[in-house]
Amino acid sequence: MKIFTKKAPLEAYLSKEKLHGKSIGFIPTMGALHEGHLSLITTAQKKNDLVVVSIFVNPTQFDKDEDLINYPKTFEADKIQLEKISCDVLFYPDVTEIYEDVIRSESFYFDGLEHKMEGKYRKGHFNGVGTIVKILFQIVKPNVAYFGQKDFQQLQIIKKLVQKHNLNLLIEGCPIFREKDGLAMSSRNVRLEEKYRTAAPFIYQTLQEAQNQFIKQNPFEVILRVTEQFKYHPLLKLEYFTIAEEETLETIKEKEKEKNYRAFIAVFAGNIRLIDNIKLKHS
Ligand code: AMP
Repeated sequence: MKIFTKKAPLEAYLSKEKLHGKSIGFIPTMGALHEGHLSLITTAQKKNDLVVVSIFVNPTQFDKDEDLINYPKTFEADKIQLEKISCDVLFYPDVTEIYEDVIRSESFYFDGLEHKMEGKYRKGHFNGVGTIVKILFQIVKPNVAYFGQKDFQQLQIIKKLVQKHNLNLLIEGCPIFREKDGLAMSSRNVRLEEKYRTAAPFIYQTLQEAQNQFIKQNPFEVILRVTEQFKYHPLLKLEYFTIAEEETLETIKEKEKEKNYRAFIAVFAGNIRLIDNIKLKHS
C-alpha cells in the first residue's frame, strides 16, 4: 500500500494512474477503522482499478471540542487493516496540509437538508463535512466515492454537493454494517462503558419494532411509542426519533404510496452520541 501524507505527490501519482486508464474508487474516513469501513473498501475494490482511502479527523465538522479531542485515533492498527485487505493507496494528511493557516468551513446551502436532524443538533456539522469532502474530492478526483447509509443524511448531502457544484464523480451509498447484537458499527462504540455497550442494541431493536409498526400504523403512533419506550430507559437518552422521506428528509405527515421513508434516531449512551436509521416499508 502506498501512503501519502502530502497532497502534491498523491495528485501526481493518481493523475499518472488515470492517464493509464485506471478508474479510482475513494472512501473518505476519520480512521478508527471497523468492518463497516472495510465493507465500503471491498465494494470499491470490486468496481475500480485503484482504491484510495483517506484518514483525516476533520476538526471543522465537530461542534464540541471535547468530542474532537476524544475521537479515537488508531493509525497503526488502521494501517495494518488496510494492508491486510490490499488497499492500494492511503492518504493521511495533517490539519495544515488540508486547511493551511485557516481552519474554517465554507458555508453551503444543501436545499435545507443541512438543517434537519443532525444539522439541528450539531451546529455547523454539515458545513464542515461539505468542506472536507469537497477538498478531498478535488485532490483525489475519484470516479466513484463510497459512503455508508449509517450516516444517511450525510450521504444525501454529499449527493447534493456533487450535483450543486457539478463535480464529476458518482456517489454510491452502501448498507449499514452491524455488530452481531445489531448495534450499528461506529468508531465511537469503543468509547462506550460496558453497561452502555450492553444497553446500546436497544436502539436497533427499537428501529426494527418501528419498522414493523409502520407497515400498519400511522407515523404518529410509531413516534409516540418510541418516545415512550425511551422515557423510562435507565441508561439511554433519546435526542430525536423521526420518520422522514429519503430524498428531502422532510418529516412525514401522511404516508404517500410512491414515497420512500426511513426512521432516524440519535441517542446518548452516557456522553457518547450514537445514530442509526432503518428503511421503512409501507402499504
Ligand atoms: P467515519 O470514519 O465515521 O467518518 O465514516 C467513514 C465512512 O464509513 C462514512 O461514509 C460512514 O457512513 C461509513 N460508515 C461508518 N460506519 C458504518 C457502518 N456501520 N456501516 C457502513 N458504513 C459505515
